[in-house]
Amino acid sequence: MTAREASGTRQPGEPDALTTALDERAQQRELHLLRSMVLLLRSTDVGDALHSFMDTLRDELELDDVTISVMRDPTAPDGDAERRPPTVDGSADGGDLLPIAPGEMFTLVLRRGDRTVGHLSARARDEVSPTTLASLTVLCDVLAVALDTTRVLHDEQRTVAGLRELAELKARFLGSVTHELRTSVTIIEGFAMLLSRQAPLLDERQRADFVARIWNSARSLGSLVEDLLDLTRLESSGINLVIRSVDLSGLVPKIVGQMSVLLERNTVLTSVAPDVVALTDPGSVERILTNLLSNAAKYTPAGTEIAVSLRASAGQAVLTVADRGPGIPASERRRVFDRFYRVDDGGAAAARGMGIGLALVRDLVDLNSGSIIVDETPGGGARFSVSLPLADPLVG
Ligand code: ADP
Repeated sequence: MTAREASGTRQPGEPDALTTALDERAQQRELHLLRSMVLLLRSTDVGDALHSFMDTLRDELELDDVTISVMRDPTAPDGDAERRPPTVDGSADGGDLLPIAPGEMFTLVLRRGDRTVGHLSARARDEVSPTTLASLTVLCDVLAVALDTTRVLHDEQRTVAGLRELAELKARFLGSVTHELRTSVTIIEGFAMLLSRQAPLLDERQRADFVARIWNSARSLGSLVEDLLDLTRLESSGINLVIRSVDLSGLVPKIVGQMSVLLERNTVLTSVAPDVVALTDPGSVERILTNLLSNAAKYTPAGTEIAVSLRASAGQAVLTVADRGPGIPASERRRVFDRFYRVDDGGAAAARGMGIGLALVRDLVDLNSGSIIVDETPGGGARFSVSLPLADPLVG
């Protein structure tokens, strides 16, 4: 303490101790607010800086019950608007702002440009002056920038992760296509050569076996080409559907019958309700059922059952293919319908494939205004259920 202060004398115009303390407090407050802003602006993820920002609001601006809500999609309707306290709107210089009474709740809109990024709501502990509100408005502008930057960053990270995954899936797809083509062509070439060069040395059974192998490989090449063509057509919207009343009760057993050679390792049980007529494209139904049955044959052990059933239920024709193979883990059931996706485990992954069959199935089901789900066959196995609209919904 100086001698002058000790004697209690002040020069004219010199601030008293209280004014000095208040000035220092105001400077300290400004400093804290500034630091909080810098932290927000420097943060790559606003989440870390948000707690210290809220503490600053509580301590320096004497606000309670501070909540910050973020609009994930600024174009979506604001469902919380009704529940939020009244909005305070005004310019950053505080000129047109009115004080907030002690205990009053209020909201500030967090804007970036003409977009609403979120809202900050709080309760005034004591009266909040227009000057303090103006400081808060500036803080909110900075907060809006930080929140929006974080959102853009997260969007970009998601896009990059998606692109990376797509690139990986495409690389795997190209690898699978090459492998499929090479395997089938090698088998066809090899056995055709044996048949032509060694014909006199082969007995009837061997000859029949070689022909069956050539035939199987040619057919798998054919279906690979069909799948690729369908995929290209679907991507260029060049697929022509003829949606009309289709008697599925007649069509389904016919398709199962056509696939008897492929299904000869399994026991196929067919249960078809009569007079199930759907409003659909018959070619699509054939592609859908053929793909599901080929997968059932491919992924299940020889000798197991494959059950095909058709029934009408709640205005829909429900076509089910249930097998007794390894099934599809619950965590993978949504993804198996993605293009190029193959389940990455020992069992199913060992079978040959390109991961486009189920993607095609789902696209075709969508184009026919239907839906598809996969779950578990009671007792184990994969069960695919396709629903298509009934021609006369009152029947089902
Ligand atoms: P692909 O069979 O050519 O790999 P799909 O799109 O037809 O491609 O199938 C995607 C993945 O779903 C398969 O790789 C396999 O892991 C899994 N899957 C499909 N059907 C079955 C099934 N019936 N049983 C077990 N897994 C299956």
